Amino acid sequence: MNTENHMIEIVSLKKQFGDLVVLKDINLKVTPGSVVALIGPSGSGKSTLLRCMNLLVVPDGGRVRIGSDTFTFDGTSRLPSTRQQARFRSGTGMVFQHFNLFPHMTVLQNVMEGPVSAKNMPAQQAAELARKLLAKVGLSEKVDAFPNRLSGGQKQRVAIARALAMEPAVMLFDEATSALDPELVAEVLSVMRDLAAEGMTMIIVTHEIAFARDVADTVVFMRDGIIVEEGPARDVIDNPKQEATRMFLSHFH
Ligand code: ADP
Ligand code: MG
Repeated sequence: MNTENHMIEIVSLKKQFGDLVVLKDINLKVTPGSVVALIGPSGSGKSTLLRCMNLLVVPDGGRVRIGSDTFTFDGTSRLPSTRQQARFRSGTGMVFQHFNLFPHMTVLQNVMEGPVSAKNMPAQQAAELARKLLAKVGLSEKVDAFPNRLSGGQKQRVAIARALAMEPAVMLFDEATSALDPELVAEVLSVMRDLAAEGMTMIIVTHEIAFARDVADTVVFMRDGIIVEEGPARDVIDNPKQEATRMFLSHFH
């Protein structure tokens, strides 16, 4: 059971690839319904941190709790049972830079797929859920389209609906708008903003600093596998305390 009022709790998380230490003792707590923007230079470990929360990467040490599910990692790269992993993974919905939709399935089928195959949801019910989520991301008229007929912004909105279909407790976004043409960024950010307003707990890796300032409750600045600075979004972005944060943010003005 939760002993603290946090949706996500990361304690002493460590990860290295060979000799390269990518996460050095990361500690992070996220309250339910809050939005954390994770910013930092390329290579600082942002994606690895998100991937550790979804077990796409197995940490070398530390602990991750999402809701009431906790994993402690002890450095043997032995994973918990497949069933425990699946349960843990289903607590988080992840949206990547590249959408990875199933090309041979319609938009509706893409969104239904997770609930049907991973949760044994009856097709009728999954279709209903998928239609509801596609309406939410503004794609009701595209339910029968195939992904190759969609713009990048539309594909990414399908990817968000697909992640939401698993009814995750937490949504993780890894540079969800970085691969989009500039004119398509706003429609995806708008969906993310709506989710935040509805109270979804989210961690957003982004280079959209204005969006982070506006939508995130907390901004976390990472560099070289360390959380250098963390605080209320406007404080960190308008008035960074650390020189490294200041330097990084100066590239966006
Ligand atoms: P960010 O998302 O902040 O750009 P990443 O977490 O992707 O950073 O990467 C952090 C560092 O870890 C980089 O130096 C990257 O090359 C390295 N890295 C990431 N994944 C792997 C992997 N699977 N194998 C080896 N090195 C990796
Ligand atoms: Mg990354």
